[in-house]
Amino acid sequence: MPIHNATTNPPINAPIVRFAPSPNGLLHVGHARSAMLNWHFANAHDGTFLLRIEDIDTTRARPGLETAIFEDLAWLGIDWPKPVRRQSEHFAEYQAALTELRKLGLIYPAFLSRAETTARISEIDSTGQIWPRDPDGAPHYPGSDRELSTAERDERIAAGEPHAWRLDMQAVLDDLDTRLSWTEHGSGPSGETGEIIADPGAWGDVILARRDVPASYHLSVSVDDAIQNISDVIRGEDLFATTSVHSVLQHLLGLPAPRYHHHGLVRDQDGRKLSKSDGSTSIASLRQQGASPEDILTLAGTT
Ligand code: GLU
Repeated sequence: MPIHNATTNPPINAPIVRFAPSPNGLLHVGHARSAMLNWHFANAHDGTFLLRIEDIDTTRARPGLETAIFEDLAWLGIDWPKPVRRQSEHFAEYQAALTELRKLGLIYPAFLSRAETTARISEIDSTGQIWPRDPDGAPHYPGSDRELSTAERDERIAAGEPHAWRLDMQAVLDDLDTRLSWTEHGSGPSGETGEIIADPGAWGDVILARRDVPASYHLSVSVDDAIQNISDVIRGEDLFATTSVHSVLQHLLGLPAPRYHHHGLVRDQDGRKLSKSDGSTSIASLRQQGASPEDILTLAGTT
């Protein structure tokens, strides 16, 4: 099978990069690392650093967090063109992408609620059957809604039944006549670099629009990177495997693929990646304790 790299790799001069936090917690030292690596890359190549606020999850939005992000980044010495792109203001664009995929017959409404999904998985697990898990450890969708007829789907939607939209991954893979890959200038968790063959099947039928939010991370990030002409995506290696999903969406939607630079994470003393829920490593609290921007950059390993 030929290997198709969806990339027409843009030239390295004048790159456009983005730092794309979700405002659901305070930024920590790991975010400082990502933001600074993007910032240094843009400056080193006469490029542009964009800040994008990934706030599609309006159910978790907390007032003030966006301002805190702006303050922390400015304090670190970073600036960016205004206004920033806020994903919550662009649902129509994600909807348009979803409509395109729907026309291709590659998505389906998934009616199981979170609780029903969990119950179904426990049932399967209790029989000893091995059910596939995605690279983050989450079980693949256990519903069989992809087999519903168009008439049944339409009827249930018309009756107002809550539903997400999922990619029919098997149908996508069956239709693919090339193997997808991306260009990796950083490295994955096991040191993978160079041309990486995508493995979207590992993710199962990913969600493209949630029940409560008319988009998903995978869909919005793929659409936005294209709309904002991002040439280089510089982000933590915890997102390395998800690039397979972004590659498949770029391919299906005819979007240009950026180059990727996944970087190592900042870890705590126990080797765990930092989390927004543990406030102790937040930039704001370190700052309150008297840390200077230099101190943060030292902790972030980007000086
Ligand atoms: N919004 C994502 C996060 O805060 C980052 C997405 C990305 O860089 O692709 O983890």
